[in-house]
Amino acid sequence: MKLSIKNTFTTSLPADPILENTPRQVTKACYSFVTPKQTANPEMLHVSKEMAAMLGLTDEDLTSNEFKNVFTGNSVLPNTTPYAMCYGGHQFGQWAGQLGDGRAINLTEIEHAGQRWVMQLKGAGETPYSRTADGLAVLRSSIREYLCSEAMFHLGVPTTRALSLGLTGDQVLRDVMYNGNSAYEKGAVVTRVAPSFLRFGSYEILAARGDHETLKALVDYTIENLFPHLGKPSKASYLAFFKEVAEKSLDMVIHWQRVGFVHGVLNTDNVSILGLTIDYGPYGWLEGYDFGWTPNTTDSQHKRYRFGSQPEVVLWNVYQLANALYPLLDEAAGFETILSDYRTNYTRAHLDMMRSKLGFNLKEEGDATLIKEVELALHLTETDMTIFFRNLGNFRKGALSDGIAVVKDAFYNITEVSAEVRKQWDAWFLEYDTRLSRELLTDSERKEKMNAINPKYVLRNYMAQLAIDAANKGDYTLIDELFELLKQPYAEQEQQHKWFAKRPDWARDKVGCSMLSCSS
Ligand code: AMP
Ligand code: MG
Repeated sequence: MKLSIKNTFTTSLPADPILENTPRQVTKACYSFVTPKQTANPEMLHVSKEMAAMLGLTDEDLTSNEFKNVFTGNSVLPNTTPYAMCYGGHQFGQWAGQLGDGRAINLTEIEHAGQRWVMQLKGAGETPYSRTADGLAVLRSSIREYLCSEAMFHLGVPTTRALSLGLTGDQVLRDVMYNGNSAYEKGAVVTRVAPSFLRFGSYEILAARGDHETLKALVDYTIENLFPHLGKPSKASYLAFFKEVAEKSLDMVIHWQRVGFVHGVLNTDNVSILGLTIDYGPYGWLEGYDFGWTPNTTDSQHKRYRFGSQPEVVLWNVYQLANALYPLLDEAAGFETILSDYRTNYTRAHLDMMRSKLGFNLKEEGDATLIKEVELALHLTETDMTIFFRNLGNFRKGALSDGIAVVKDAFYNITEVSAEVRKQWDAWFLEYDTRLSRELLTDSERKEKMNAINPKYVLRNYMAQLAIDAANKGDYTLIDELFELLKQPYAEQEQQHKWFAKRPDWARDKVGCSMLSCSS
């Protein structure tokens, strides 16, 4: 394997001087050197060829023993020093202190085709940040992270990527629903890839400890290496950096709302400084369009991270970043403007995104009301988000009778669609039709545009679970089938129509489908 190794993070920033791999508080440092754990019987299950190509890896590399060993943690690339990053975080609204890469180990940074990438193993053993946990990951959650990261990329959503999914050959003990029923599961490692894995919590921990020297070093590093267009580190570029992070974070969450992705654990340690979706844990996809839905059972009481709250929560997290960066500026006004701009920008971006989902090219005053109304109607009975918006593209101007008929496959229980509900839909379609009559595009032009925005295929929760159930029995074919399907989420792929369907009834309340915990 020929990789062009270029470590900027470890060469620019202070390391933890202690090399012993034991849980501890790590101060005055941004990371600790640590070696991945040897595993019993490593096996590569799947590789993302698209990601591999971006790293400059050849087809031969991907089937080599070296590839298998490096990306399951069993050998270390020459001239590299793997490391775990130190960060903290606000978890469910509370400052949680030091967290860090408890089960992620960065192998190295490389450069290919002018692009920088960090390659990171998730589930490759303990680090100084593992606290009382084992540093490992199970196959179940690794399949979910692997498939979803690449699916999100192909949907056009900013995300960390995945290069490979491997089995370790070790058994890992987990209590899936935290109810005392622990069981052994297959251990796995996912190789994640991103230009950087820095999180809001990477900055927060330094500010919380009053370590302004390391904080400044980290922010300077970030600007110089990840936001070089902002110019040399200075008070002005610190603020410009914050502004860009706020904008990127907003862009990311708007994409989530567009495709119906619910992150599930939007703690500040799980929020990328690059505005990438990161840390795929108990995430989920909307089936019924429901602002109140969260996949995360750990959050089922307060539903802090429910679908409809994500944009607000991202803003809350951006506030925490402002607090962390504040010591470098000692002046609040600039931050405040950017934070209040987030709200204005959010309203506009959300409106534009919803316009595009509905097929509006023009921007009209009344659109906000029409959008509110469709969102309300979608909540009247359980209505599948993906099918609704995809099929709405089949509506023809002037064909009012098409209305409900065009989207009827999206209703989970057609008998629940009472006369009253129908009346509301009919009223909405009447307004929709009038609104469309002012658009210049033809029906087929509008449909084409809508189909580029409204995916036909997403990684529905039960689909990932089917792949997991099969994989636990040693059948990995569904992982590949879903991986291939989700490479073209906007294409019709008629032979794959079975995946353009509502969640089957058996999946409604099944663990792993609608209920997920953090026990990954
Ligand atoms: P999460 O909410 O899953 O992003 O995890 C929060 C913190 O717990 C992070 O510091 C993780 O690295 C750590 N963590 C989660 N699972 C494990 C594990 N199995 N072993 C060690 N650390 C873990
Ligand atoms: Mg995390």
